[in-house]
Amino acid sequence: MDFDQFLRGALDRIEAGGLRRSLRMIDSPQGAEVACAGRRLLNFSSNDYLGLAAHPRLIEAARQALDEAGAGAGASRLISGTHRYHERLEEELARFKNTAAALTFSSGYAAALGVIPALAGKEDVVILDKLCHACLIDAARLSGAVLRVFPHNHLAKLESHLRWAREKHPQARLLVVIESVYSMDGDLAPLREIVELKDRFGAWLFVDEAHALGVLGQHGRGLADEQNVADRIEIQMGTLGKALGAGGAYVCGSAALRDFLINSARSFIFSTAPPPVVAAAACAAVSLLALDEGGERVGRLAKVRTELSDLLGRGRAASAIVPVLIGSEGRAMDVSKRLWAEGFFVPAIRYPTVAKGAARLRITVTTGHTREPLQGLVSAIERSLREV
Ligand SMILES: *Cc1c(COP(=O)(O)O)cnc(C)c1O
Repeated sequence: MDFDQFLRGALDRIEAGGLRRSLRMIDSPQGAEVACAGRRLLNFSSNDYLGLAAHPRLIEAARQALDEAGAGAGASRLISGTHRYHERLEEELARFKNTAAALTFSSGYAAALGVIPALAGKEDVVILDKLCHACLIDAARLSGAVLRVFPHNHLAKLESHLRWAREKHPQARLLVVIESVYSMDGDLAPLREIVELKDRFGAWLFVDEAHALGVLGQHGRGLADEQNVADRIEIQMGTLGKALGAGGAYVCGSAALRDFLINSARSFIFSTAPPPVVAAAACAAVSLLALDEGGERVGRLAKVRTELSDLLGRGRAASAIVPVLIGSEGRAMDVSKRLWAEGFFVPAIRYPTVAKGAARLRITVTTGHTREPLQGLVSAIERSLREV
């Protein structure tokens, strides 16, 4: 088949399904307000929950690293790409998360793809929540392990998968993979119950805290901290590009876990180290989070969450992600476009990020949002939903 014809045909089918995507260019730092296409928009689409991406301390740390270490790492971590900025970041993360060690990756996607296949192979069983992020699903598939998926947060089904796995694969390693805050629904995993269950069956637990870090727990240490089960989780993963305002991701756990991953995680071994500037910015963010200012920012975010929930007439939002379910992909897009025209940047999320027919607006709030724009947003959503 002709290559161009293939590409155009594929794009036409995506378009016909109302699922065509395109890029938008932002002309300002990330923040509660952003510049886009010559306009200022109130930004309800960012994962920069604590407003750290443009924080002077992160910028200064990055600038210093840039002067001292240059623009790029130049090699993989295992060759000559490990700079003191990487080491410092990992020490700071381990201290902050209260674990023996931490290892960083260039992205959350890379962390998942490196860690899960290193821990489980084709003789093993990986059990995932149905709403797990694409990178966790891809990682589980890549591992070649036997896969089982349980309905979202369904403990009884998770238990029956664990029982089945123990009976059918008595020699296998069992790895349970979940998020602590689910990225498109903003709800929480019943983490404590899942920890109890995996312990009962001798399984290991991988928890992705991408949207909980900086949001939940003391100083934003995450849901594992909030529920006081961090020391019972084998693999705690999180990202540095969301609430931490920089980029990359971490895995926290034992010193042996870190050593093992350095020797086994292919996305770590066969990839150029993240630029020292990024590690330096992330390190500044972790240090800041541990200070009073970090605690204050997490507290302010909790207030914004409560304010938005009140305005929407709902119970308090469990996280900084507040979805407004719409259903039809077309309608969700139309509502999002109308909000855009009124100066509100609220993305519509649709298949394949969420199930078909479960399209939604995904509002994310940050410390920079004050009451007035929140009120404006809620009125605009109500109006659009009536009119579209
Ligand atoms: C964003 C996200 C990732 C990927 O992290 P990146 O650093 O953006 O690659 C992984 N897991 C979850 C739950 C996420 O939301």
